[in-house]
Amino acid sequence: MRVIEGGEEILDIELEESLLARNRELAEKNRKLLDEKGVTAIDVMGSIGSGKTTLISQLVRKLKGRRSIAVIAGDLTTTIDADRIGREGVQVVQVNTGKECHLDAHLVGKALEEMDLDAIDLLFIENVGNLICPGEFPLGAHKRLVVVSVTEGPYMVVKHPYIFLDASVAVINKIDLAEAMGVDPAKLEKDVLKINPSARVVRTNALTGEGVDEVIQALEI
Ligand code: MG
Ligand code: ZN
Repeated sequence: MRVIEGGEEILDIELEESLLARNRELAEKNRKLLDEKGVTAIDVMGSIGSGKTTLISQLVRKLKGRRSIAVIAGDLTTTIDADRIGREGVQVVQVNTGKECHLDAHLVGKALEEMDLDAIDLLFIENVGNLICPGEFPLGAHKRLVVVSVTEGPYMVVKHPYIFLDASVAVINKIDLAEAMGVDPAKLEKDVLKINPSARVVRTNALTGEGVDEVIQALEI
């Protein structure tokens, strides 16, 4: 079979490289600010419907007694996720990216300006729902967490290798539906570890809260 490799022949490759370099600079700036303020930030990535918002809500519920938490919710146009997380009683800033399919360090920097960083010590950043470009745009977060759900089928991990490369934790969600979906969570776990042997993989049912304590341990928060 003939395969055309697009990777090296993107027309605007120079533009893209300077964009990514600029993003990295701004990410470092965000990290410095977060460190100065003593805030640990977690970048949460995953497809639409994988369970990012549900997982963040559960993490907030479990941690809010002992941590001061805020959330940045990234989305193209809606405030659905921010509204849901806001019900947990923590500070939430919505970032609408418009047509952009990922958060970038510039937008997160603007969100940080809006927040009372002295009042918090833990920040979750819900990235825009997709598994491709968010991986290329570090935000300055200390850790990256990727959520995949078994409902996305058996090839979700192998088809999106780059997003797992610098993920500290990968969550395999909706574990209760694995059998019905004919998806083997152990295979997904193996796929993640093949791409990134240092990742911690946790199975969850974010709706019921199953596995959420293990996510907290894996993130060391
Ligand atoms: Mg969401
Ligand atoms: Zn994008």
